[in-house]
Amino acid sequence: MTISMNLVSDPQGDHDTSVKARAQAFAREHVAPYAETWERDGIYPKGAIFEASKEFGGFLIPKELGGKGGSVTEFLIMVEEMAKVDIAFTLAFVVHNNVAYIISQSPNASLRDRLLPALIAGERIGAFCLTEPGAGSDAAGITTRADLVDGDWQIFGTKGWITAGGCADDLVVFAKTTDTPGPKSVACFAVDGNGPDIERSDRYELVSGHLPQVCDITFKGVNVAEKDVLFEPGTAFAAAMGCLDAARLGIAAMCNGALTSALETSIEYAGQRKMFGGCTLDNQGIQWTFSEHLTQLEASRSLMFQTAALAEAGKSFTQASAHSKKFANHAAHSGMSWAMRAMGATGTRRTSDLARQFGHAQLLFNTDGTPEIMNIVIGRSLQALCK
Ligand SMILES: Cc1cc2nc3c(=O)[nH]c(=O)nc-3n(C[C@H](O)[C@H](O)[C@H](O)COP(=O)(O)OP(=O)(O)OC[C@H]3O[C@@H](n4cnc5c(N)ncnc54)[C@H](O)[C@@H]3O)c2cc1C
Repeated sequence: MTISMNLVSDPQGDHDTSVKARAQAFAREHVAPYAETWERDGIYPKGAIFEASKEFGGFLIPKELGGKGGSVTEFLIMVEEMAKVDIAFTLAFVVHNNVAYIISQSPNASLRDRLLPALIAGERIGAFCLTEPGAGSDAAGITTRADLVDGDWQIFGTKGWITAGGCADDLVVFAKTTDTPGPKSVACFAVDGNGPDIERSDRYELVSGHLPQVCDITFKGVNVAEKDVLFEPGTAFAAAMGCLDAARLGIAAMCNGALTSALETSIEYAGQRKMFGGCTLDNQGIQWTFSEHLTQLEASRSLMFQTAALAEAGKSFTQASAHSKKFANHAAHSGMSWAMRAMGATGTRRTSDLARQFGHAQLLFNTDGTPEIMNIVIGRSLQALCK
């Protein structure tokens, strides 16, 4: 894979420009040589997550809490560089980081301070347990239940589609505390994943993306101390949704990074592939199609960095991140598909990273909300205009 071609512009503004080179170096050394094996054998690479955490663990968490204190723009640059090499590794690392981030937002300072150091260091792996087999897009429809019994919480229920579900040590679990419908009775708990009464399914067999060990986790009356509540009922759902705004930008960065490297690989190949007395790239139709996808990529990255600027200015970026995630999902899907086609049959071979990455990119439509749910988020502002 070529990662030296300069197809896209760097984001403007004040940020640590060393992040890009450091993330590139990390991905080249710790991810690129192993990504295909991790995918083929379904290995969650704890060692590489630990290495990544040394430089990038707790990236957005303030330094006072042990994080790196990075900006949203820098975070997106890091994610793009990792995703150029492997979306699945990047997804695993980013979800783990997001778990630390939501814990850092908890008002329960003693629980936060107990959990954060090992998560930020990558010594323990975190998982975010919201989705259930019966409730995905409609997250407020979860049925996992937490009840206070003799002073401790007891949790019953099954979570589905949990990234790192097969190996996570610290589980951030959302559960309802009463029968009241909707999000108001949802609370958020810190559960020790290595404790009793927890059952994990085999990892799902997916179109691609076996590294993150996505699976079900069943809680069979798991005991949680009353004090181990991260977010009380009434605040947990809003905390989850707040973290999703940043998480959606992270998904956009994965799409944009993967699309960049797919186009680079494909353009390099098309410039060398001999045909009809020239090369593939001599055909104007091929040049124009690449041009269209490069325009989509530039637009997608502009939207993403513009949204990051809103977040850094302390403004609401819920709608902007929904636009960004949706746009990036579509741009990556069609652009990566084209990148494979422009390489002819070679693009479909497993020896090219494109095949693996294209499979991973399908998963990004669903993570942190589908494009249809992004339309619901964006459409809410239109509803306000109804007379
Ligand atoms: C690789 C991967 C990792 C994941 N990791 C995690 C994780 O770590 N933690 C976690 O909690 N979850 C995780 N998820 C779950 C993810 O958040 C859900 O898949 C997502 O929210 C969609 O839910 P669903 O799959 O149940 O689809 P459904 O909700 O069943 O939706 C089915 C279809 O209906 C559409 N739809 C739904 N509602 C509407 C509507 N109102 N109007 C129009 N269309 C609609 C959807 O867009 C979709 O196309 C992960 C998913 C994947 C694929």
